[in-house]
Amino acid sequence: MSNLSLVGRCGLYCGTCGVYRGYRDGGELLEQLAEKWNIPKEKFRCEGCGSLTQKCWGFGCEIVKCLNYKGYQLCHECEAFDDKRCDRYESIAERYLKRGEDIRKSLMRIKNGETLQWLDEQDRLWRCPSCGSPISIHAEKCYRCGVPR
Ligand SMILES: [Zn+2]
Repeated sequence: MSNLSLVGRCGLYCGTCGVYRGYRDGGELLEQLAEKWNIPKEKFRCEGCGSLTQKCWGFGCEIVKCLNYKGYQLCHECEAFDDKRCDRYESIAERYLKRGEDIRKSLMRIKNGETLQWLDEQDRLWRCPSCGSPISIHAEKCYRCGVPR
């Protein structure tokens, strides 16, 4: 089952975003991310970039604000994307790349009309190899069974 709400506007799969997972899963993951990022636990609220409300953490995201200002849905629509002229995008793309996710490549797939296939792949990819629970790109281990990601 594909959930189009989980197409991150920067190209990150929202299902693996720490804010989304912390909100959905709670428990130890929420405790750790709240402490790591110094964000109050009640601020962890997200339904995915595709279903953003004013209550969502992502509502204040600099990428989202930039896209809204320019009138784009996703970053690949922007003229600065192709020739890597957007410093903000390049810096987050580099950060996610270090954690094993190429958000530029993801946006290229979405641009090519492979959104549903990409969503299914991402859903399978961001799961614990041991227990199958969804895992966050921001977490070092599965919070259900403790296996490192
Ligand atoms: Zn697990």
